[in-house]
Amino acid sequence: MDVKSGRIVECNAALQRTLGHAEDELRNRRIEEVFPEYQQLLERWRGAEFGGSSSVESPLRASNGNLIDSEVTLAQLQHSGRRLLCLVARDITLRKRAETEREDHRRSLEHLATHDPLTGLPNRLFLRDRLPDLLQQASAAGGSLALLFLDLDQFKAINDTRGHAAGDELLRETARRLRASIAGGDIVVRMGGDEFVLLVSDPGDRRNIVSVAQRVLDAMRQPLRIEDQSFTMSASIGVSVYPDDGADVESLLKHADIALYEAKSSGRDNSKFFRADMVHGRGERVALQQALRRAIGTEQIRVEYQPIYKLQTGELSSFEALVRWTHPEQGAIAPQHFIELAEQTGLIHALGEQILNMVVRQLAAWRSMGLQLKPVTLNVSPLQLARDSLTASIRRVAGQYAIDLTLLHVEVTETALMQEGGRHVAGLRQLRELGCKVLIDDFGTGYSNLAQLKNLPLDRIKIDRSLVNDMANDANDAAIVTAVASMAHTLGLEVVAEGVETAEQLLMLQQLGCAYGQGYHFARPMPPEDCIALLETALRSERGADARMRSLRLVPPPRRSQE
Ligand code: C2E
Ligand code: CA
Ligand code: CA
Repeated sequence: MDVKSGRIVECNAALQRTLGHAEDELRNRRIEEVFPEYQQLLERWRGAEFGGSSSVESPLRASNGNLIDSEVTLAQLQHSGRRLLCLVARDITLRKRAETEREDHRRSLEHLATHDPLTGLPNRLFLRDRLPDLLQQASAAGGSLALLFLDLDQFKAINDTRGHAAGDELLRETARRLRASIAGGDIVVRMGGDEFVLLVSDPGDRRNIVSVAQRVLDAMRQPLRIEDQSFTMSASIGVSVYPDDGADVESLLKHADIALYEAKSSGRDNSKFFRADMVHGRGERVALQQALRRAIGTEQIRVEYQPIYKLQTGELSSFEALVRWTHPEQGAIAPQHFIELAEQTGLIHALGEQILNMVVRQLAAWRSMGLQLKPVTLNVSPLQLARDSLTASIRRVAGQYAIDLTLLHVEVTETALMQEGGRHVAGLRQLRELGCKVLIDDFGTGYSNLAQLKNLPLDRIKIDRSLVNDMANDANDAAIVTAVASMAHTLGLEVVAEGVETAEQLLMLQQLGCAYGQGYHFARPMPPEDCIALLETALRSERGADARMRSLRLVPPPRRSQE
């Protein structure tokens, strides 16, 4: 370029080609026709020189009017007394494109990092990122903010029994329902697994928060269909409110989580506001845990036995072993409370081992008294099943006391059996081959269907006491019991009804052809010394058959065994 005239003196073929000009077409044209931002280019160049860089970006104009991104280097020359400027441009279109792609990529990575791909909801990171700002805003405006921590009640069971695809669909549906039940400005976050957090800005008074929670719980209760199967689900919610229950993200989340735990403990499908005394409850749990750790292996742990009868003949069939814990200060603690604690802390293995030992030793003691032994059913936690050592311990302990394995039965819950694609099944099959009968406990409360049972190593189904209990009043429960009984029979499985409390229930069960029954109508769980009389009667009635049918009310009216 000639500096004085501002016109092009010469250009190379590469420039003509890139811009789409014919040979010599550019000679004598104004420099702005090629470098439309020539003036800015000069200014930038001065700045660049000053800053020590050797090029600046400035677009080129093509013959069709399009702009091409380029990077330009300038050099001044003197030629035959003329001042010339040499501009060398490099086409950087590709590099630019790569840069925008990188930027898009960065943005989508950021989205991925802060959103959950399954539901599209913001995730935990997003919450940690944004919540401080929201709290700041609320504080500046003198307002409040409610944090609702939600957890699905039966997600694990559905995920385990129906497979992950169904589980995923359930989570997506949950996300949709949550979004639909809150206002547009409020935020739903998936914390992970089946945990969600709802942030409700400026909720006003507690009644409004209660009604949001209620709306969410109602929405969650609506039945849903996945792959042609219908489900009902429910959720539990713990609520913490800023600023009353915490000033920062950490404590608000922690307190909502504690409230959630309370909601779960009080029967699920409900919501609870955080209260300071709930923290205290946690401390008590820890104390109870330590007390349980000390109790295992001592006489604080005992076993009671509840008889199970053959419903057609009234014969004593077997016993169920039920663990008891007498806390040195607090007295009897219900198994529902400490079994869960034992499972959470891994103490269940030591506890289970102690129960197994006590039961086998008891059988040996009864034998030494000349009594005719009846099988005893052990309740086995899914965690024990997950360990390969269960089968080995049962064999070892039974061998030690020369107790036949046909005298030990194991009872596992429905959900435990369906877990992890039947990983536990191998151990149960082994036990069964050794003559140990396998029962499925609490049947009718989980999600498995009878067809799935066909492939499991099972001998008996124990119908849950909630169904048996309501059978006489609730036509629906009666229908379920009838269906379970008849299908179990076609699968060659025997049926045990638990929680038989009235003569009316007994009669219905007998008519259904239900083989075994257990419940307060016959006897409460009792200490082993009380079983002696039952075992003696059983022996006698086996000799004299007429005694059998006399009455199915085999023991005197229930006495409270422990409480
Ligand atoms: P489960 O296995 O379903 O045990 C039956 C429960 O129903 C027992 O409660 C028993 O006392 C109670 N029951 C028996 N007949 C009736 C009746 O006619 N009406 C009513 N309303 N209830 C009746 P318990 O002993 O409190 O045990 C509760 C749960 O604790 C058991 O439920 C079982 O899941 C767990 N558990 C008990 N012992 C053990 C054990 O040794 N190991 C494990 N892993 N869990 C145990
Ligand atoms: Ca049981
Ligand atoms: Ca049961």
